[in-house]
Amino acid sequence: MNIAIDGPAGAGKSTIARLAAKKLGFLYVDTGAMYRAIALYLLWNDTDIDNEEELHKALDRININIVYDKGVQHVFLNFQDVSAEIRSEKVSIMASKSSALQPVRDKLLDIQKSIAAANDVIMDGRDIGTNILPNAELKIYLDASTEVRAKRRFDEMKNKGENPDIESIKANIIARDEQDMNRKIAPLKKAEDAVHIDSSYMSIDQVVERIVTLAGEAAKKAEEN
Ligand code: C5P
Repeated sequence: MNIAIDGPAGAGKSTIARLAAKKLGFLYVDTGAMYRAIALYLLWNDTDIDNEEELHKALDRININIVYDKGVQHVFLNFQDVSAEIRSEKVSIMASKSSALQPVRDKLLDIQKSIAAANDVIMDGRDIGTNILPNAELKIYLDASTEVRAKRRFDEMKNKGENPDIESIKANIIARDEQDMNRKIAPLKKAEDAVHIDSSYMSIDQVVERIVTLAGEAAKKAEEN
């Protein structure tokens, strides 16, 4: 069974998908982490992503591997675990820019589809319901207001001991939404058959419960058909 969760930056997709996957006994696949790993390589190598030849050469040198350790996804970039390094704001910004390019998306399409074909997954991203898993048994579009999303990211960074600035976090979120929703290829949008959940005033547990219930209903429906 495949569950697709799409939505804008900071809507809580990964926290919620991880918990729901645990409850359902599914694999949680964070596709944003894959785009982030590519972005990290491009940053490390100072790649000019507007130069097609340079971009192709860089992509040819990139090997992305996804490994699960006790249900936790680790992303390996050229055999190095970069799961922590990919979480910086700099990488977020580069991931949003580079993920708009077709060769970057092509590089990850097969990895994502083949994981979903071989496992029961909850996969989160921007184009999962619309593009990667159009036949997913359940599609969710998870949203929250810009203010709430910025505050959540702020709290998350504070808890990590960082010294975040709420206004710059908010500006980054708005810029990323703008880029992700308006790009030509695989833009972020709600799939027609996706269930819209606004988590602004919901607790994490409430959203997880809602998804687990919807998953149960979807599984029943799939069985009947
Ligand atoms: O989900 P996360 O914020 O980690 O994703 C980082 C960036 O990767 C997003 O801003 C988006 O541009 C890109 N992305 C994408 N398609 C996906 C997942 C992520 O374009 N399926």
